[in-house]
Amino acid sequence: RPERVLVSACLLGRSCRYDGKDNGDQVLGAELEAQGLVAVPFCPEEHGGLGTPRPPAWLTASAEAVLDGEGQLVTDAGRDVTAQFRAGAEGALEVCQREGVRRAFLKERSPSCGCAQTHVDDRVVQGPGLTTALLLRAGIECRGVEGRRSRDDAD
Ligand code: SF4
Repeated sequence: RPERVLVSACLLGRSCRYDGKDNGDQVLGAELEAQGLVAVPFCPEEHGGLGTPRPPAWLTASAEAVLDGEGQLVTDAGRDVTAQFRAGAEGALEVCQREGVRRAFLKERSPSCGCAQTHVDDRVVQGPGLTTALLLRAGIECRGVEGRRSRDDAD
């Protein structure tokens, strides 16, 4: 059966970003199709019950530290949304385990989905978001995707 891969839902055009927009990436869509991969769309922050639109949020420590119980996720108004972000990350891992997913394509710089970079204290820093950190611990290969590329932009 074709390989199933987890994909940040906003990269597939779903309007689930905190500001109600999407990161639809036609280049990624075409790449997945060309490789015969079946995308399993998932938005950790919606899964965690944060709703869309929602206030922007960031980590107060590295995602690794937050997974270990040190640090939080807070909104720009200072609300603690750690439990919701954690529920989203755990939901993503459950989907991967249920669907036999071993690879994920995730929106770069998100506090949930970032891979090389994420947001700590409203700044872009090196390191994964919370969902990515949990997937990496489970041995799932994660690739960061910028998003919003159209076929016209492609090389
Ligand atoms: Fe949802 Fe992740 Fe996209 Fe944010 S980056 S909107 S959490 S899928």
